[in-house]
Amino acid sequence: MSTPPPTHPRPQVIALEEHYFDPELSKLFDGYEAQPKMGPRLLDLDHERIRLMDEAGVDIQVLSHAAPATHRLDGATAVPIARRVNDRLRETIARHPSRFAGFATLPAADPQAAADELERAVVELGMKGAMVHGLTQGLFIDDKRFWPIFERAQALDVPIYIHPSRPNPVVIDAYYKDYVKEFPSITNAGWGFGVETATQAVRLVLSRVFETYPKLKIICGHLGEGLPFLLWRIDMTMSRSGNSPLYFRETFREHFWLTTSGNFSHSALLCTVMEMGIDRILFGIDYPYVENAPGTAWMQEVPLCTEDREKILNGNAKRLLRM
Ligand code: MN
Repeated sequence: MSTPPPTHPRPQVIALEEHYFDPELSKLFDGYEAQPKMGPRLLDLDHERIRLMDEAGVDIQVLSHAAPATHRLDGATAVPIARRVNDRLRETIARHPSRFAGFATLPAADPQAAADELERAVVELGMKGAMVHGLTQGLFIDDKRFWPIFERAQALDVPIYIHPSRPNPVVIDAYYKDYVKEFPSITNAGWGFGVETATQAVRLVLSRVFETYPKLKIICGHLGEGLPFLLWRIDMTMSRSGNSPLYFRETFREHFWLTTSGNFSHSALLCTVMEMGIDRILFGIDYPYVENAPGTAWMQEVPLCTEDREKILNGNAKRLLRM
């Protein structure tokens, strides 16, 4: 009688870029951001969301508010709303503690209050870090006025997730508008989101925030918004004479963690593994903008060994987020 093959239990799946709408905050969004088609799925934090997680084999969603969250609000408006949003996210997680964790929403327009809210969200509410979206009132997040947020993130040892939002209208007008009608995705996930978020990441390195906060941890989605592919070239050209001394590639590899959200590509993943190493890649889907099932199905086929696949699916997240 032959011995049956050993059965491997399915690895736990933790997904890191899974969005929702808070009913109060999302009411403040304009037509473009209000997401008429996605609205019901973003607002649902119970039955349908969990059913779709079960169907696809997603064990835990680390929830984050969808873009632009509080980033177009002034400080006075954003501070009390962010508190209520984070309190309600805590209630959601408490209803399904084995299925959800959370990234806090920050009132970034008031950086000192945002740093305090990050601390409250992590220490009192159990959040795993925070997500920021695109420009904050038109400013890039590397602007020195936002550094209190990074200082507190380092002190708390939690990551800040840099997520896309609608690009600056001036950029849309100058770079994309000829094609917006025929290809509306050019301004968002098709191109504009990646350009702007990669720019945020590049600017963060150039700002030398990581020299001031050497333990700061940043997460980017979509397998790094194209940066792993470009790291060598950025590093080479930034080292040319005329540029200030800077170790671009080394800094990026030391301070960034990248998720697979919405970029289920073998070649992009292998490039990211080669540039960043397997310990810096975490699983993410980008629900509900991207369906769960293609994400988990893709992970079963990625050309990596079982141990490396498991690091992406749960091990790296458990370490980075202390889950
Ligand atoms: Mn997303």
